[in-house]
Amino acid sequence: MQIANDKIVIMHYKLSLDSGEVLDSSFDRNSPFSFLAGHNQIIPGLEKSLMGMKAGDKKIVDVEPGDGYGERDEKLIQVVPRDQIPGDIELFEGKVLQAQGPQGIPLEVTVVGVTDQEVTIDMNHPLAGERLHFDVEIMEVRDATDEELEHGHSHE
Ligand code: ZN
Repeated sequence: MQIANDKIVIMHYKLSLDSGEVLDSSFDRNSPFSFLAGHNQIIPGLEKSLMGMKAGDKKIVDVEPGDGYGERDEKLIQVVPRDQIPGDIELFEGKVLQAQGPQGIPLEVTVVGVTDQEVTIDMNHPLAGERLHFDVEIMEVRDATDEELEHGHSHE
């Protein structure tokens, strides 16, 4: 059976960057990742390349930033007065803070500069602007159950 919309895909993957840094590997965890194809569960650039693959197939998929976590947007780097951030939070370059995004969605922002008066924060996704490399191995492809289709995700 081939990967297509409404199929459940069980696969192993290793995610790395151009630098060679490995960010994540399901091979190491020995527990494969599963998703429901065609339901926006994984980044579009990866899903597109997996279509038509079947159990046992291996592939290296390169995903450009635009098809991954987006290009970096300099407008998302903002300076806020230091007193807007609770005093008990230690601030230093590289510190990741939890903030409230639009619609109240939690958002991770990275501190990129600190002075006595101001803090510069970067709201870009940490992987924005990065080309992603996925080493994938398809373990199983099966039809989704009615319940999985209804929920829009895999129950593996
Ligand atoms: Zn469910």
